[in-house]
Amino acid sequence: MVFIWNTWKRFEYNFLYFCPMRIDILTILPQLLESPFSDSILKRAQTKGLVEVHIHDLRSYSTNKHKKVDDYAFGGGAGMVMTIQPIADCIDELKSEREYDEIMYMTPDGEVWDQPTANSLSMGENFILLCGHYKGIDERIREKYITKEVSIGDYVLSGGELAAAVVADSLIRLIPGVLNDETSALTDSFQDNLLAPPVYTRPANYEGMEVPKVLLSGNFKEIEKWRSEKALERTKTRRPDILKD
Ligand code: SAM
Repeated sequence: MVFIWNTWKRFEYNFLYFCPMRIDILTILPQLLESPFSDSILKRAQTKGLVEVHIHDLRSYSTNKHKKVDDYAFGGGAGMVMTIQPIADCIDELKSEREYDEIMYMTPDGEVWDQPTANSLSMGENFILLCGHYKGIDERIREKYITKEVSIGDYVLSGGELAAAVVADSLIRLIPGVLNDETSALTDSFQDNLLAPPVYTRPANYEGMEVPKVLLSGNFKEIEKWRSEKALERTKTRRPDILKD
């Protein structure tokens, strides 16, 4: 329900004011983010003017003569820490130009990103996604600027870029007009606390493995019923934790 409501509100909003979502990604490795946004759905969303993705190279904000963006950790120990100055300058500049719904830091100790969070944030307009590296960023940046700390799972990546691409993708595909068929996102896993049912395409018979007859019947009521049953069955066996009453 939340998703349908959000989709409708964004439709209404886009229709009345036409305001594309804007995502600013802050990174020391901008080249890592080139490919995810230059193909398929994410590229089309930008071409259609439904979203703007801006990648900012934090190194270009560094006032250090060698463009350094990291330093030793106070207290010693292995690993460098990303310094305050380039990040603060970049965020200050962006904030002086517009208001942001959320300034998110990609971090394994953040709140785990999920579909309900993506659904509710897809209503927003402007987001900053900050990618860390090394041992992470100076804690004071988190205290002063970050409004949401996001993890994409309980494992550690080398940098926040892949996490930022995951978060951005899951937001962008929810913007009305991005997917060719609006209802497609509604039937994906995690909407309505269910996993998606199995899907099939041609051939109808592959090495003796037949597609369930109902899917070839043309009876849409029966097909819907079958899909709901399969979605429930699959959720019960694979992810009982997401099932609600
Ligand atoms: N020292 C940090 C810790 O143990 O929590 C890990 C730093 S990690 C090597 C470098 C960067 O990768 C992080 O600052 C963060 O931006 C990103 N990162 C790593 N794992 C992540 C995850 N599960 N979700 C989101 N970002 C992650």
